[in-house]
Amino acid sequence: MSPTPRRSFLRTAAAGATATLLAGRRAWGQAPASAGAVDPALIDDLVAANRILADQGVVDGYGHVSVRHPGDPQRYLMSRSLAPELVTAADVMEYDLDSNAVDARGRTSYLERFIHGEIYRARPDVKAIVHDHSPSVIPFGVSTAPLRPLYHMSAFLGGGVPVFDIKTAAGGPTDMLVRTAALGHALAQTLGARPVALMRGHGCVVVGPSLPIVVFRSVYTEVNARLQAQAMALGGPVTYLDDDEAQRAGGSVGGTIERPWQLWRKKALAR
Ligand code: MN
Repeated sequence: MSPTPRRSFLRTAAAGATATLLAGRRAWGQAPASAGAVDPALIDDLVAANRILADQGVVDGYGHVSVRHPGDPQRYLMSRSLAPELVTAADVMEYDLDSNAVDARGRTSYLERFIHGEIYRARPDVKAIVHDHSPSVIPFGVSTAPLRPLYHMSAFLGGGVPVFDIKTAAGGPTDMLVRTAALGHALAQTLGARPVALMRGHGCVVVGPSLPIVVFRSVYTEVNARLQAQAMALGGPVTYLDDDEAQRAGGSVGGTIERPWQLWRKKALAR
């Protein structure tokens, strides 16, 4: 872990004071109480995750990443509505699982924050979530070609990648955005126990037990989709990892994620 700047410590202390004030306000029901300050290193990880996903072409001006609050499973942390590459520690907000902001202070929230709240509610094992429109995955959400693990780096895709169709979930046409808790819940149901679900005509959601793992999975979901389209374009049958290979490779590669994470994090926080 890199040294923590003093200003992050002060910010956390201020957040603690804010939490106390909010706990008092909760009595007359304006905002959920804060679950308290978190380790500034986790906030730095969340900032780094935003920038890494932009660096790797997973997000652009759109997309978001969140982490579950380490002190309270009923809370999560995510930037205010902002392009991920611009996110700093001061932009991180706390939400309850209904995706109400604890301390909005006039800041705007992402319209699709319900993706995060409803998946955290449905999946106690999930500690971090990415929603993105990563371009190479889009064809696999709108065609009959299933996204499948082509190589060892994306072995986590073994076992299948479900596709969420918002028209089916909503019972009719929508603006394609997961802008309500009901739609977030439906997406969480489609995701089930899987690490990735595609969203037809929109993008995908990727989940994991930590920020490094969810970033890794998001990056290699995009790379796998690009490589798979290339392999399919060559013509003839494509050989994918079989279930046994995916299981074995997932275990091996899964133990090495700190290596790219430390590289990506250092570059992301250096600017
Ligand atoms: Mn979206």
